[in-house]
Amino acid sequence: MKSLRTKVDRFGVSFIERFGGFLNPLLLELKKENNQLLSFYFHGLFESSQQKELHHIDPQNNMTLKQFDDFIDYFQNHNYKFIAPEDLNSGLENGPYAMITFDDGYFNNMLAVDILNKYKVPAAIFISTRNISENKSYWWDIIYKYRAQQGVSIEKIRDEQKYLKSFKHSAIDDYILKNFGKEAFIPWSDIDRPFNTEEIKNPASTSYISIGNHTHNHAILVNYNKEEIKEELRLSNKIITELTNSNPISIAFPNGNYNQLVLEAAEEEGFQYAFTTEPDRNLLPLGNNKLTRVNRYLSKTTKIKKYGGFYRLGYTPNTLYDEAIMTASSLKKKLKIFP
Ligand SMILES: [Zn+2]
Repeated sequence: MKSLRTKVDRFGVSFIERFGGFLNPLLLELKKENNQLLSFYFHGLFESSQQKELHHIDPQNNMTLKQFDDFIDYFQNHNYKFIAPEDLNSGLENGPYAMITFDDGYFNNMLAVDILNKYKVPAAIFISTRNISENKSYWWDIIYKYRAQQGVSIEKIRDEQKYLKSFKHSAIDDYILKNFGKEAFIPWSDIDRPFNTEEIKNPASTSYISIGNHTHNHAILVNYNKEEIKEELRLSNKIITELTNSNPISIAFPNGNYNQLVLEAAEEEGFQYAFTTEPDRNLLPLGNNKLTRVNRYLSKTTKIKKYGGFYRLGYTPNTLYDEAIMTASSLKKKLKIFP
C-alpha cells in the first residue's frame, strides 16, 4: 500500500513525522487514552549533564535527573497514574496508567528516589544479580570506557558491543579479560557501579521501589538452551528473594531478546509478566495468560514533548495521516449539511 501513495500523501506523512508533535493537544482531546498502560524503561541516571562528560559509563539512553523529573511531571499532568508491576494483578480500570522500570541495577538509580518520593510514584528495578553480588561492572560499559579512552570512534564501539551480544556471558567475560584485564571488571565510581546487596535489601528505605528479575548474568536468553535459561532465571530469583523477602513475578529480558523457548521457560518458572522492549502501548485489560507480555518504550533523552508523540496513541506517521484524511473528509461532508 505504501508504494501506492501519491506525492501529496507522502508529503503529508513526512509532515506528520516532523511536526506531528504540534497536533498532540488536539489529538489528545479527541482520543481516549484511559484504556491503556504505557510502560517505559530506563537504564542509568546522571545527576547532571556534566557527569556525562566524565565517560564513566556508556551514556546511551541515560537521562539526567532533570529529564526524569520532567518525564513524571508531564505524564501526571496528562492524568496518567503511575503503577508498579505488582499492581497489574489487581485488575486495572479507569486509566490511563504509566509504569517506570529501570533495567540492569545501576546504583545511580538511587538518584531517582527523591523524585519518586516527591511525586509518590513507584518504579521497578530489574537487576542482574551477578553484577550486584560481585560488584562487577556491566560489560557494555567496560567496552565503552576503555575504548573511549583509547580514542575509538563511537561507531566502532557500537559495533563491538553489538558483536558481543551474540555470545553467552562466559564468552563475553573471556573477551573482556583478554582485551582489558581483570581490573576492567571493577567499576570506576558511583556513576557506573551496580547496587550492592545491602542496597538492594532496602533501596533507600523507600516503598516506591520494587525489584524484578533481569537474569543472573545479564544473559541474552536467545543464546542459551532451555535448561540454561531456567538456571539464569532461578538463580536470579533465589538471590532477590533472599535479599528482599519477596519472589519476583516479573522479568525483563536482557537486551529485549526472547523467543518461544524463552517464553516457555519464563512461564514454567512461574513468572507472570515478561517485560519486552517492543515500543507499543498495552491495551487494557491485559490478557489473562499465565505469562503476559508487557510492551515498553525506551525512555527518551530528547525533549520531554516527544513523549506526547502520536506513538503513545498507537499511531505511526502513516496511520495518523490516513486518519487525518478520513476525519477531514467526514468533516467536509458534515459541513455540507449546514452550508
Ligand atoms: Zn539490561
